[in-house]
Amino acid sequence: MADSTGHDGAPTPGQDPPANRYGSLPAWRAVDDYFVRSLVAEDEVLAAARESGRSTTMPGAEVTPNQGALLGLIAQLAGARRVLELGTLAGYSTIWLARAVGETGRVVTLELEETNAAIALTNLERAGLADRVDVVRGPAAESARRLVEAGTEPFDLVFIDADKPSNPRYLEAALRLTSPGAVIVIDNVVRDGAVIDADSDDPRVRGVRQVVEDIAGNPELDATAVQTVGVKGWDGFIVARRRSAGSASGA
Ligand code: SAM
Repeated sequence: MADSTGHDGAPTPGQDPPANRYGSLPAWRAVDDYFVRSLVAEDEVLAAARESGRSTTMPGAEVTPNQGALLGLIAQLAGARRVLELGTLAGYSTIWLARAVGETGRVVTLELEETNAAIALTNLERAGLADRVDVVRGPAAESARRLVEAGTEPFDLVFIDADKPSNPRYLEAALRLTSPGAVIVIDNVVRDGAVIDADSDDPRVRGVRQVVEDIAGNPELDATAVQTVGVKGWDGFIVARRRSAGSASGA
């Protein structure tokens, strides 16, 4: 796929890669476009929710359409009826998850910023999904603690996508709010490769590295991480699963 610079998007020696605001190469964006056009059914409701992300406190921080579709598929593969999301933004990923759980399912999504929560609610109402989603305002750690104290029914899937320095706390909360067999997805764990810098003083990188260590040290969890490239540059996600009682690793 040639771009306007006459090459396929890969940097040639001595040449800076042509970057957009996310540092993604033209070829990565073109491949994302191709797969989204071919495979991802993003209807008007989803497109409007994604566009409305521009009016939030973190414009453009929502997952991409193909990542949203992956979240929906993971929820369906896990047979999830109850989903907890940390970090709502405009509710774009929330819509994918709420559609995946079906009419009888439930999504609880935790959001710090009132502006974002209000935009998300509008998007969920437009999507006809407001009756199966609770948008809980406030710091996610506190909201999650209240859910634990209230003895909330366990969730089948947790999507962690809020402030990255708090990832270890969010994993802890996820473990208290789920049962064996539950799936936990953590977004933005590669950060342009910065995740491998053990001496990083970036609190987001430290949050990711700590949560990786916590997962690695938890015999209850099977996990992997996948790095991705695309319209949002170079990043990736962790998928972990609480081992079912009596099952061996990988089962
Ligand atoms: N999951 C969304 C999607 O893909 O459409 C994107 C979420 S965005 C990456 C992160 C969100 O987490 C922002 O809306 C931000 O306001 C929220 N956030 C940041 N710190 C938070 C906190 N301490 N508690 C709850 N939400 C927080």
